[in-house]
Amino acid sequence: MAEACKLAAGNWKMNGLRADLAEARALAAACSEPGCGVLLCPPATLIAPMAEALAGSRVMGGGQDCHASESGAHTGDIAARMLADAGARHVILGHSERRADHLESSEVVAAKARAAQAAGLVAIVCVGETEAERDAGRTLDVVLGQLAASLPDGSSAANTVIAYEPVWAIGTGRTPSLEQIAEVHDALRTAVPDAAMSLLYGGSVKPGNAAEIFAIGNVDGALVGGASLKAADFAAIVAALDAA
Ligand code: PEP
Repeated sequence: MAEACKLAAGNWKMNGLRADLAEARALAAACSEPGCGVLLCPPATLIAPMAEALAGSRVMGGGQDCHASESGAHTGDIAARMLADAGARHVILGHSERRADHLESSEVVAAKARAAQAAGLVAIVCVGETEAERDAGRTLDVVLGQLAASLPDGSSAANTVIAYEPVWAIGTGRTPSLEQIAEVHDALRTAVPDAAMSLLYGGSVKPGNAAEIFAIGNVDGALVGGASLKAADFAAIVAALDAA
């Protein structure tokens, strides 16, 4: 059976000006040896200049969202092939902040993932429970339900990565126990349509907890928010994944 690829993906969210490309350059310099996949997803305004800054390095660039349509009257939106044209290789879809702020349903996420895959991008599809859902014992129902509804037909390890991100762990400094992460990742591994699909954990991953999270079976990497903004922190997370 094919092994899942390891990936450390950084999500800069709505942070970063051109001056911050220095952090991306510093990350590329710190990750000069071959190893796991390394990805930075900056705001859309920085995708093209970041792709130029990182050309020839180990660090790939990606987007944080795309529209489900190829083009048309959708003011303010970005089509998947525009991201690809700007140098993106991946796109994050269905992040809990988009599901909450933009009322994105899993069906919308699936349509976006279909568009991303058609444009040659790898869709990083995010799933995760709220604290209330975990407290109600519904974590696996919620996560597996989101997974099933968010993946279009044809999703494979080549065009899709899954990120398990408990909503209550994002940006809070709180993380699930290692056993709780393992439980969800084991369930995801049996539920994904391609067993070689990479499964990332996301939610308050830092240099100090990365190694223990990467030691969990069926965790193939991380989706990292805050700690991806500083090259030194993200490089330490990349090093932990290389060593796992
Ligand atoms: C995220 O936004 O996907 C995320 C995991 O954020 P943080 O690492 O800051 O919790």
